[in-house]
Amino acid sequence: MARYTGPKCRLCRREGMQLFLKSEKCLTEKCPLKRRPYPPGIHGPRKKPRLSIYGMQLREKQKAKRIYGVLEKQFRRYFHMARRMAGNTGENLLSILERRLDNVVYRLGFATSRAHARQLVSHGHVLVNGKKIDIPSYLVKEGDEIGLKERAIENPFVKLSLQKRDSRTIPDWLSFDESKKVGKVLRLPERKDITYPIQESLIVELYSK
Ligand code: ZN
Repeated sequence: MARYTGPKCRLCRREGMQLFLKSEKCLTEKCPLKRRPYPPGIHGPRKKPRLSIYGMQLREKQKAKRIYGVLEKQFRRYFHMARRMAGNTGENLLSILERRLDNVVYRLGFATSRAHARQLVSHGHVLVNGKKIDIPSYLVKEGDEIGLKERAIENPFVKLSLQKRDSRTIPDWLSFDESKKVGKVLRLPERKDITYPIQESLIVELYSK
C-alpha cells in the first residue's frame, strides 16, 4: 500500500495541531506550526474562513487519515468494514485504525513515530506470535504477541525509543513485558482508549452522503 511521502509538518499546519508524524520534531522549532500557524499555500495568512459542514467533515477525515498514515483508498475500505461490524460505525472505524500493526508497534514504544514503526514492519523486523509479519496494515487480534527480531532490538533507534517511552503511554488494551521486550493484545481497543481529538461521527456523516 502507498503512503504519504511529502513534508510531514506541513500537515500539522493544515490540521492546526501537532500531529507528531516525525517523532519529536513537533516539539522543536523545526515544526512550522508555531511560526506559521495558518494552513500551507501561497496565499499566506488569511482570515480563518468559516467552515461549511462538509468542510468540517472533510477536516476530521483528513486528520484521522494523517495521524494513522493511511491514504484515501485504504481508509474508505476501513469505513466499509466498520459499517458491516456490529455497533457504532465511527467507533468501529477508530478501533480498526488502532489495531493496525504499525500503530501497535508504535504504541508499544518500539518506534518513535508511526512512520518509523511502519518501516520496522515492512522491513521484516516485526514478529507476531513468533512469526514474521511484514504487512503494516495487519490487524492485531486479542491474544496476539508482538515483538521484534533480536537484531532489531539492538538497533540504536529502537533502543532509544524504548528508553524514552515511559510505561504510562502504553494503552490499557496492550501490555508489555519489559524483560522479554514483547507486547500483548489484552483486548481489542475501544473508543475510550483513543485520546486523539477526532470526532468520528463527522467522518461517518461524510461517507454516508
Ligand atoms: Zn509538526
